[in-house]
Amino acid sequence: MGAVSDRALCLRRFPYSESSLVVRLLTREHGRVHLLARGTYRPRSRTYALLDLFDTLELTWTQNPRRELGELVEGRIVRRRRDIPASLPAFRCGSSMLELAHIGSLVGQRDRPLFDLLERSLDRLCEPAIPAGITGAGFELGFLEVHGLSPALTTCASCGGEAPASPRSPARAAFSAGAGGRLCAPCADQARAAGRRVGTLPLDALDAAAVLRPFATGTGGPIELESDLLERVRDFIARFLDYHLGTRPRTHQAFLAAENRNAPR
Ligand SMILES: [Zn+2]
Repeated sequence: MGAVSDRALCLRRFPYSESSLVVRLLTREHGRVHLLARGTYRPRSRTYALLDLFDTLELTWTQNPRRELGELVEGRIVRRRRDIPASLPAFRCGSSMLELAHIGSLVGQRDRPLFDLLERSLDRLCEPAIPAGITGAGFELGFLEVHGLSPALTTCASCGGEAPASPRSPARAAFSAGAGGRLCAPCADQARAAGRRVGTLPLDALDAAAVLRPFATGTGGPIELESDLLERVRDFIARFLDYHLGTRPRTHQAFLAAENRNAPR
């Protein structure tokens, strides 16, 4: 039962007994890890005030393969991100990212791209020049990409060809979450015939998401979007995620309780 050390981001925390915590973490090399932090609320503990959400931590723990919970031994804060809980938009957005990272990770299964995406996105939430909504939408696009679920935004998801606007509604293109995103007219007909739901999305929202995606994955520079357009981009990404996760994240519920913001007028 050797000790293990790794970088970690705290996803969820549960009080346990009077002075302890159970924490669920996303680690860089060990996937999701569940640890018991004994006595962490005692000021003399080696892990006192260590396990805050949003911070990058370096932790050492022991893991008994016959037990579900490892035991935290010690740790340090590598990067403290106080700016996130200090700002409501950043806090909401950060909480949603942690929830998605929890849904999208598995115990003991290394997922370095997800860890890197989450850490980079938390860093961005601390940059006042980048609106939290941009970082959040970018994180969700990156989350889909990490899991091989990137929606087709500029070309047809089915045949890979061009997917122009439909003649009947010139500013919109066919789109189906089940078929993988944007569709050309013949592939949209095929998808409908196969029983898939096919709707349409405004071209400006698809184009904006296509510009946002490289920013999410770390290769593009920051972008600016008008708040109405950003809201519509967030709407369709959140609905696309819903479809593929098969569950609505708690942190999406209020946002998605509104009507589809991209519905034809
Ligand atoms: Zn096609």
